[in-house]
Amino acid sequence: MDARLEAIRDTVLARNPGEGEFHQAVTEVFESLGPVHDRHPEFLEGAVLERLCEPERQIIFRVPWADDAGRFQINRGFRVEFNSALGPFKGGLRFHPSVNLGIVKFLGFEQIFKNALTGMPIGGGKGGSDFDPRGRSDAEIMRFCQAFMTELYRHIGEYTDVPAGDIGVGGREIGYLFGQYKRITNRYESGVLTGKGISWGGSLVRPEATGYGTVIFAEEMLKTRGQSFDGQRVVVSGSGNVAINAIAKAQSLGATVVACSDSSGYVVDEAGIDVALLRQIKEVERGRLKDYEARRSAVDYVDGGSVWDLDATVALPCATQNELDGDAAARLVRNGLLAVAEGANMPSTREAVAVFQDAGVLFGPGKAANAGGVATSALEMQQNASRDSWSFAHTEDRLTKIMVGIHDRCAATADEYGDPGNYVLGANIGGFVKVADAMLAQGLI
Ligand code: GLU
Repeated sequence: MDARLEAIRDTVLARNPGEGEFHQAVTEVFESLGPVHDRHPEFLEGAVLERLCEPERQIIFRVPWADDAGRFQINRGFRVEFNSALGPFKGGLRFHPSVNLGIVKFLGFEQIFKNALTGMPIGGGKGGSDFDPRGRSDAEIMRFCQAFMTELYRHIGEYTDVPAGDIGVGGREIGYLFGQYKRITNRYESGVLTGKGISWGGSLVRPEATGYGTVIFAEEMLKTRGQSFDGQRVVVSGSGNVAINAIAKAQSLGATVVACSDSSGYVVDEAGIDVALLRQIKEVERGRLKDYEARRSAVDYVDGGSVWDLDATVALPCATQNELDGDAAARLVRNGLLAVAEGANMPSTREAVAVFQDAGVLFGPGKAANAGGVATSALEMQQNASRDSWSFAHTEDRLTKIMVGIHDRCAATADEYGDPGNYVLGANIGGFVKVADAMLAQGLI
């Protein structure tokens, strides 16, 4: 890492002790930015990096709610409003027991660059809670969401901060959150949240967008080597919204997705994952992946273990951060891996990324490859602002163009900085320069 940047990075790490994932995300971005600072000394003079690493505002709050037995439960809520140089803070809410300030900050930091890469007018933010939705009734989910919004409402708004979903937050949760926002504020402010239901201000394609976009990005990478998804053997981690839609899109392009996972294990289905059955189990029944085995022939469920033990030509990590380490990466590379596109945020460890890049594997980092979700959220905001709703075909076409645009911008930036094919460099520099220019133009704030 460039010595000037390393000194700033070290200060950031020292000021934010114990936030391992945030340190990782900052380090990974800083490693790409040396050459930019040679060309743009004004970024150092303007203390852009120091400002970028310090969120504009961080909100931490108590979320008190009552479970079905009438017992009082206390969780912690977060919203980190990281950077509004390009637009209102924008990013999802994650409900998962692993959520803490460091996790929310890593996600919010990544979101700044991701959102810049989409070309849409959105800043970066992220939030969530250490609430564990697993095993909770619908009524408990509703009461939790209402309690969460009872504090969050005062910090958000169409022109201020626009939350959406992430792990543990989907259409159901966005509905309860929106209802409580409307009740407290007495405003039908569609643009305050994205991921809404289609009959009340949501956008078609938003549910599919992250998974579809990841596959579109991967397809563009494959094209640079004269290849495509057709005939590829794909392994996907996760079985939530991102994974399911990535599987559907990859198979529509002629790939066979032979496996996917949840936190308990993975299924191997050599005939190709049955997406309708997977949706039924995960989205309708809110069940576990284990149930897939009994309902389809010639399927193996592996309890525990890692889905990355399987061979694949394309790997799509769509579960969570740091789920794919250096050893797993080395094994995949030995067994013929061509490409990786990250549907999740920071699923590959820094060691894994180095293994992929050293081996010449096409590697699409999450902040570029999974930007289709938030980009389609911005399309939802656009429809809300004009009180319009677009067709599936039109919205999907916009998403495709945005993903191809992100791919091409990352590739062109990597070329410009003398490292062709390095999408990590392209994404980090491409996102950073846009935000840095806007920050300088807006003065010391
Ligand atoms: N949570 C998603 C992400 O990581 C989507 C955010 C949004 O739609 O605002 O980008």
